[in-house]
Amino acid sequence: MARRVNRVATISVHTSPLDQPGTGDAGGMNVYVVEVAKRLAARGIEVDIFTRATCRALPPIVELAPGVLVRNVVAGPFEELDKTELPAELCGFTSGVLRAEASYDPGHYDLLHTHYWLSGQAGWAAKRRWGVPLVHSMHTMAKVKNAALAEGDTPEPAARVLGEEQVVESADQLVANTAKEARELIELYGAEPGRVATVNPGVDLSLFRPESALLSRSTGLLPHRTGPARRRLGLPRDAYVLLFVGRIQPLKAPDVLLHAAARMLKDDPSLRSKLVVAVVGGPSGSGRSRPEGLQRLAAELGISDVVRFEPPSPQDELADWYRAADVTVVPSHNESFGLVAVESQACGTPVVAAAVGGLCTAVKDGESGVLISGHDPADYARVLRRLHAEPGLHARLARGAVRHAQSFGWDSTVDRLLEVYTGALTMFPTGRHRLAPEVPVLSAASPAASPTASA
Ligand code: UDP
Repeated sequence: MARRVNRVATISVHTSPLDQPGTGDAGGMNVYVVEVAKRLAARGIEVDIFTRATCRALPPIVELAPGVLVRNVVAGPFEELDKTELPAELCGFTSGVLRAEASYDPGHYDLLHTHYWLSGQAGWAAKRRWGVPLVHSMHTMAKVKNAALAEGDTPEPAARVLGEEQVVESADQLVANTAKEARELIELYGAEPGRVATVNPGVDLSLFRPESALLSRSTGLLPHRTGPARRRLGLPRDAYVLLFVGRIQPLKAPDVLLHAAARMLKDDPSLRSKLVVAVVGGPSGSGRSRPEGLQRLAAELGISDVVRFEPPSPQDELADWYRAADVTVVPSHNESFGLVAVESQACGTPVVAAAVGGLCTAVKDGESGVLISGHDPADYARVLRRLHAEPGLHARLARGAVRHAQSFGWDSTVDRLLEVYTGALTMFPTGRHRLAPEVPVLSAASPAASPTASA
């Protein structure tokens, strides 16, 4: 009989579920960890999320939701530690995780789920100590990222590639966000196909939904462009609003949107009185070294008057931005999935995105948005002008967007994850790892240990 999962230890070393997504290292992975933990807890599965303490004022344990605890493990300095410096703190972090579990009765956790390779490294040690299966989600992979670097971005170091390979080798189950990511794990990292499961991330469909007027029954058109979200955000009813949401870094290519907007205005100067480009999010990755870079680019392109920069926003405010926008633009060089694209569609706003990575799953080309090959701003400008000029096409994509997003609820994600967890428990019963040492220990007296022993 399949064993039930009662308690899960989740590890997210480099970014805390308590952080505001949309800036620094906090993004889709944080949203994923929080949404999955809350839904597991609602089904009676307790979740402890281990993360590195980044603030002295935070208590060691914070209740995120009933049944979900965030455990802030002290390892290294509190603030200002860059992700690239984290490998040096992993030993301290891992021992903090092991110490926390030691305060419980033995066998407290049934399973470990780690996120991103640094957490996988900590999980690698913890799974052997606890004798539980390790389920790992990569979220991003160095080999994939390095193959699609944005101009000026630094390649991921060889140490990360090696660390990822170790995690792939040691995880009992790997969770890929899309079938494409599953193939990459197998082809680029040599993962055994039987240990890779595809589980699409989700969207909070109760929060991200079209404006309350919903579909106009007479026309079938989504009236979001004139609705209350625009009023709340101070956007004119007749504006053509293009939205970028996310961490501002070269990988996400917000510069492509600014160049495309400049191009649209050059081709059709009459648009200047209508166009609004909204950028919601904060600096991240190599973008942190030039936090004003995008503002400077807007000035250089002569479009500062149409670009509105907004700080990272909580998800309920974000829902308003999606509803108020005509199109959300996601021109990333790579995305493991692209939660922003699905959230926007759930709000009834079509997406124009680069045809890369998970965005090919998140957006249904021609039905819920448009996928563009490459990053030439002229291509983006052409599609965005067409969507402005053809309201019928825009309305069709808006309806398709709502439909497509319905297939990505977090509850489906959790259903699939529970299948993966149960499978891992069945394949790797508790105690297996504790009983099987990784390297056979030879006694000095055994024949194999003797230099003269024959093979
Ligand atoms: N996000 C947010 N506030 C912001 C900007 C982004 O809460 O101001 C959230 C957004 O809702 C989404 C996540 O950050 O859930 C970004 O996820 P995505 O998969 O698009 O990109 P990632 O950050 O993982 O690269």
